[in-house]
Amino acid sequence: MTPLPIPQLDREAVREWVAVHLDGLCSGTATGSPAFVGGQTAANRALAEYDVAGYASTRNEVWPDSRQGASRLSPYIRHNLIPLPEAWKAVAGGPARDVAKFRDELLWQEYARHLYARLGIATRTGLRASLLGVSGKDGWPREMKCVDLAVGELENDGWVVNQARMWLASHWAVREGADWREGEDRFFRHLLDGSRAANRLGWQWTAGTGNGRPYGFSRKQVERRAPGLCRSCPLQQACPIGDWPDDPNLEASVANPSLQTDPDVSRTAGPVGAETTGTPEAVWLTAESLGDRDPALEAHPDLPAVFVFDEPLLHRLQLDGKRLVFLTETLADLATRRAVEIHRGRPEDVLADRPVAATFTPVPGWRRKSRTINPVVIHPWLWLRRPASGSVASFSAWRKSLDR
Ligand SMILES: Cc1cc2nc3c(=O)[nH]c(=O)nc-3n(C[C@H](O)[C@H](O)[C@H](O)COP(=O)(O)OP(=O)(O)OC[C@H]3O[C@@H](n4cnc5c(N)ncnc54)[C@H](O)[C@@H]3O)c2cc1C
Repeated sequence: MTPLPIPQLDREAVREWVAVHLDGLCSGTATGSPAFVGGQTAANRALAEYDVAGYASTRNEVWPDSRQGASRLSPYIRHNLIPLPEAWKAVAGGPARDVAKFRDELLWQEYARHLYARLGIATRTGLRASLLGVSGKDGWPREMKCVDLAVGELENDGWVVNQARMWLASHWAVREGADWREGEDRFFRHLLDGSRAANRLGWQWTAGTGNGRPYGFSRKQVERRAPGLCRSCPLQQACPIGDWPDDPNLEASVANPSLQTDPDVSRTAGPVGAETTGTPEAVWLTAESLGDRDPALEAHPDLPAVFVFDEPLLHRLQLDGKRLVFLTETLADLATRRAVEIHRGRPEDVLADRPVAATFTPVPGWRRKSRTINPVVIHPWLWLRRPASGSVASFSAWRKSLDR
């Protein structure tokens, strides 16, 4: 199968490459995020420049941007350009309170990955309760300045600070009663860090389906985290979120038994060391792990890295063009250091009969495809904490079960 040409590492060239070669596989125009550049080089720079001092007290600030203390590392963490253990180490030596808070958030990311690795597609349904929202309803009225600001960032930059994600998710699912899964899909289409693992966790916990305690969004949070924003809101005198929202109609559901215990923890966590059954001729890369520290890439530096833009999957998802520009920049950057092949098609077809090395990846899609592709070497995933068999029913239960 003939690979696509390798794009030049330049925003304009990448935009054009995406428009030509990935036509029909994304929505919107392939403009790219003005706020982030994809690639290991950009990730290394972002991590080197990041200073954790002040994080604990400013991570929830929303507006103006200059007040925000969040790291903005998430697009790089999402695609494992910055593996979690590396982000963990990078903040060592910073102020103790900030380091502890930052590492706690990295653990939330790891928790999301564990939950998804164990439950997979079941994370699409309420874990503890169900919330029947109205399908087809848009839960983000743009005449509200706070909503408009955050939706604008989502759609233009592909990144929104955590606090504003909670506002948007709460407004959509709790106050407006729109279907949380459709809101989750909207986020997923745009966020450069969009992952089913963390996105579903965020929506489930905000809507209350994850723990039975919905997060309420009201004007008070806007005044505190975005002081002055309400002054420019056309609804400032008729604010629709002056009071707390009513509790949504959560219906308790039978908890998934896998929340309490993992019947097959080795399936969830993958191999501890490399499992080899043959000699690889290439490394199979996916969007889950594109960084230089990917174990399969590191172990086989002389083999070409093969990435397939999964045509049926992308055709169905219709991600915003920004996400594909970010991935293409990442591949263009990788191609400056080693041989890279980029294809468009079904990974199973492109890699049929080609012996590949790959990194075990704890998501349902990789497990399914790898059964057909059958890598001859499978390297272990870079966990921050290796999954254990105990409870993942809540973040605190999960942490305790890891300590045992
Ligand atoms: C409704 C909703 C949807 C979300 N969707 C996603 C998503 O698709 N992908 C995603 O990576 N995160 C998601 N989050 C979590 C969080 O909002 C982002 O990880 C964070 O805003 C990224 O910005 P940052 O890198 O500046 O984070 P920082 O505050 O600097 O934190 C550092 C890192 O810790 C991790 N982290 C921080 N907060 C969380 C959290 N609450 N849950 C999981 N990991 C966290 C991220 O990897 C982040 O890069 C979502 C949260 C909500 C409420």
